Formats: sequence, C-alpha cells, structure tokens
Amino acid sequence: MEKINVGIIGATGMVGQRFITLLADHPWFNVVTLAASSRSAGKTYYEAVGSRWVMDTPIPEFIGNMTVLDATEDAEKIASMVQMVFCAVDMPKAEIRALEEKYAKLEVAVISNNSAHRSTPDVPMIIPELNPEHSEVITAQKKRLGTKRGFIAVKSNCSLQSYVPALFPLSKFGITKALACTYQAISGAGKTFDRWPEMVDNIIPYIGGEEEKSENEPLKIWGKVENGVIVNATAPNITTQCIRVPVTNGHTAAVFVSFEKKPSIDEIIEIWKNYKGDPQIFNLPSAPKQFLNYFTEDNQPQIRFCRDLEGGMAISIGRLREDKQYDLKFVCMSHNTLRGAAGGAVLMAELLVAQGFIEK
Ligand code: NAP
Repeated sequence: MEKINVGIIGATGMVGQRFITLLADHPWFNVVTLAASSRSAGKTYYEAVGSRWVMDTPIPEFIGNMTVLDATEDAEKIASMVQMVFCAVDMPKAEIRALEEKYAKLEVAVISNNSAHRSTPDVPMIIPELNPEHSEVITAQKKRLGTKRGFIAVKSNCSLQSYVPALFPLSKFGITKALACTYQAISGAGKTFDRWPEMVDNIIPYIGGEEEKSENEPLKIWGKVENGVIVNATAPNITTQCIRVPVTNGHTAAVFVSFEKKPSIDEIIEIWKNYKGDPQIFNLPSAPKQFLNYFTEDNQPQIRFCRDLEGGMAISIGRLREDKQYDLKFVCMSHNTLRGAAGGAVLMAELLVAQGFIEK
C-alpha cells in the first residue's frame, strides 16, 4: 500500500517529539519533512532538538539527519512534499490561525493540536470514538477556503480527554451537570522537571485558559452538524478547576455528575465496557482495542499504572460511586501527550483517511 507523505510542524517540541515516535514506523504515513521556528531552521533535527529530546526511545536515525525547515518561510516547499501536516506549535493564536490556513490553502490536510481553530464552526474538533461524523463539515470548509484537498481538523484540549470520553456514552440519561477537577502533568506545558524545577514537590492551582477550554470545548464535541457548520450543544453544563501537579505525563480528573434519569452503577460500568467507536469498528492502526477501561480496585486509576495502557490511547476509569450532592462520582485519567495530543491527532488522521477525506 502506498503511504501518505506527511510533515510535522513544531517537530522539536514536546508534542512534535511524540509525533516523531508515533509516525516513524507508521503503516499508513511516511514522515518526509520536519519544520519548526527560524531558531531551528537549517539545522539537522539532531542539532535542533539537542538535549530537549525527552522521549524514552532514541531519535530515529532517518529523522535525526533530516534538515529542519522554517514552518512559515518554507511553507510552499513543505506543501509540495506532503499531503498532510501534523501541527503543534507554540506561537500567538492569530499567527497559528494564519499558518494553518496557509497550509490548507496550499492543499494540505492540517491535523492540528493547537487551540487557534477550535472554535471555528466549520473546523471539526474530533475525538474519533465520540463524534466522527463531525468531519462532514470539511466539505463546507473547503468551499470557504476555495480548496480541493486542503482543510483543517483539530483536536480538543488534553484536559478533557479523560472525562468527556467517560461522560459522552452516558448522554442518553440526560447529563444535567458535571464538575471536573483536573490534575494535570507538567508535559502538558511542554515541560520536564529539569526545565521546570519549581514544580518538584509543588502544586500550582492555575493553568492559564485551561478551565474555559475544559468547560466550553465539550459543547462542540456534543454539538450537531447543521448547514455545513457545527452548532454547539447547550448541555451538559460542565464546571472545572484545573490544577498543575508534579507528574511527568498523564492528566487525572475527579468527576461529579447528575442526570435527568439516574442510571445504576452496574449499568454505567456495562456501557463503558461495551463502548466501541469507529476506530475500534474499523480497526484503525492507532485505536486501542478497549477504549474505556473500568478498574474495580479502590486505588485505581493510578498514573504510573494506567497512562501507557494500549500505547497511551486508552482511557482509565475507577471509583464510580454514589455522591451526596451529585448523583454519582468517579475518577478517570488519560495520557496527555498520547491520547490527549499526538496520539489522538494520529488517530483522527487515520479516521479521516478511512472516511476518504485524505487520499492514500
Ligand atoms: P513546546 O514543547 O513548547 O514546542 C513548541 C514548538 O513550536 C517547537 O517545535 C517550536 O520550535 C515551535 N515554534 C515556536 N515558535 C514557532 C514559530 N514562530 N514558527 C514555527 N514553529 C514555532 O510546546 P508543546 O507542548 O509541544 O505544545 C505545542 C502545541 O500543542 C501548543 O499549541 C499546545 O497548546 C498544544 N498541546 C500541547 C499538549 C501537551 O500535552 N504538551 C497537549 C495538547 C495540545 P523551536 O524548537 O524552533 O522553537
């Protein structure tokens, strides 16, 4: 099978490095180019990333020897080499918005981890197991951009990738309100303990912009496609507190939830156990076999035990029980740079290939 040529924009960053480990040996995608800022451009990847490489496995040799290009200055050159780019950059929002549109208009499929286009109504924000049908708006988006193949699809914020997958399959019971306190790893800020020593033995009760994203983005996931745009849902009403904790990888959430028609605990565990989305049905290369994993032990899900489950693509849930203010409460977790960032983006790209939006 002929592979699809792809590029990684922001290849030197925390998410970019994850993309490299996931794509170096991918059955459908072939990494042919890497890009980052002008600081890295012109250097080999080995030179550009240097001691910033924090993945457990070494840099694949063919990647290390690639020359890093300038994401903006070399956009035309990059676009001529690829059908798709994975984009994860730390730039001002307006610049990211313009950069992603530039690539789309150069007829490249842009799979983005950035927040810049998450509220653009004809840009789908897809968690492949939950709302695969939102890709429908790509047709209208291409019309707006005047493109044949180029478009933008985005991933949602990493904070919500544990509790939204757990709550979404319970929608039929009418979720009236939910409260989520998230405990988020330092890699979510692109950091390690070496680069952020203030986080050792510490908790910071603030992550700029995170609570707004964690409360608003789920409404797009629950939204409906109408006339070429996604119309956000008005429920469930979710409130959050997002807290940075001294953990390398993995975001945990403590969740409280109430329903119009309260399901039993056994009913919910059964729904989670049996839930399958398109990635499982179509057996996509990066899909976890079991998406939602319920642990019966009182001391699970633990970050170190659960974050790498099924290549970091599975969601772990535990401690589902009655609450005296809300109907029920539970704890859940997901790997923030795998399911929550690069892995989720690769799975979304695989879904879009399976749906015919990106041609092999
Ligand atoms: P990071 O480690 O700080 O990496 C930032 C990347 O952006 C680097 O490759 C950097 O290149 C590049 N960059 C900076 N300025 C640029 C410019 N002017 N032109 C082109 N490239 C530029 O950040 P990260 O944690 O990987 O996050 C990247 C994006 O993913 C952000 O939008 C973030 O919100 C999102 N995200 C992160 C996570 C996570 O868990 N970390 C999860 C979901 C979403 P140089 O090395 O050349 O400076």
